[in-house]
Amino acid sequence: MDIIDKLIKDHRLTGEEYIALLALAEDPSAVERLKEEACRLRRQYYGDKVYIRGLIEFTDYCKNDCYYCGIRRGNAKAQRYRLTKEEILSCCENGYSLGFRTFVLQGGEDPYYTDERLEEIVRSIKAGYPDCAVTLSVGERSYASYARLRKAGADRYLLRHETADEEHYRKLHPPQMSLAERKACLYQLKELGYQVGAGFMVGSPGQTEQTIAQDLLFLKELEPQMVGIGPFIPHHATRFAKETPGSVELTLFLLSVIRILLPKVLLPATTALGTLDPYGREKGLAVGANVVMPNLSPVKDRKKYELYDHKICTGEEAAECRECLARRVEAAGYRIVEGRGDAET
Ligand code: SAM
Repeated sequence: MDIIDKLIKDHRLTGEEYIALLALAEDPSAVERLKEEACRLRRQYYGDKVYIRGLIEFTDYCKNDCYYCGIRRGNAKAQRYRLTKEEILSCCENGYSLGFRTFVLQGGEDPYYTDERLEEIVRSIKAGYPDCAVTLSVGERSYASYARLRKAGADRYLLRHETADEEHYRKLHPPQMSLAERKACLYQLKELGYQVGAGFMVGSPGQTEQTIAQDLLFLKELEPQMVGIGPFIPHHATRFAKETPGSVELTLFLLSVIRILLPKVLLPATTALGTLDPYGREKGLAVGANVVMPNLSPVKDRKKYELYDHKICTGEEAAECRECLARRVEAAGYRIVEGRGDAET
């Protein structure tokens, strides 16, 4: 039995086998077989449905200094902004009228948003829109904090692990941050009953086939309900400004592999993928992704949430983004559904 048959049969491989699988990433027949199986699985569990998430980037202040990120603390040129509770609620109101039933609050690790402030925001959204899911993506916090936010009504949490390889983690982050802590947060979030999302950038500096194999082993061990992967894209004001961006093809290959590893996973076709390739998100859907995340943030602040250079969709109103994505999804042969879009169990 070859390695692809084994992956299809067992939905997992060993570390060595993942490395062998990754060696096939440019082999057209391997790419095709993985894509076919990934599409079969997504169709089996999700049909032609694509879920939409309304992304609200509510602060770009960050106390961390991740070396790859445009909003890291050390970037003195970043234009910092925070949305008020009222502004966030107005994004939700707009989003609700456009059919969104999940709101993703994403931001830097901004100490201004204490547990009290975030709880108040989550409670207000859940009170105003009880039929909607609230997803948080605000980085590492204490167990007590995650518990309070869960109790306030947060349903899901996105926290990419970034890389599951210790040495690689060190190349991407300052010494105060640790992979062990990042992983511990993910397990705590799971224990608290959040639907959890992990993930990593494809092609981040120092990434190798070995580190990706570690990522795939970790994803299978954690069994998250969501996995966010997108290509690394350099930001001009970081030490990685001159690095090569991640590969669209490898990202697509890995989307198929992840769909096979975790058949029911919610898998977004990310903005980063759409930034490197004008049809990146459509291509993502065609290889196994089933989620898109249009931006609901106020246009006045969109450009400021600059994680990497040339980010797309920073000039359009939410309604335009929603329409544009609906057109793209339909052209790709799928249809947007306006439910909460929880993972199949
Ligand atoms: N602060 C939260 C956290 O740490 O999870 C959420 C915001 S963080 C900016 C969201 C994600 O952006 C990160 O998990 C990272 O993978 C991605 N990101 C940051 N810089 C990037 C870059 N240069 N290229 C591609 N993705 C990037």
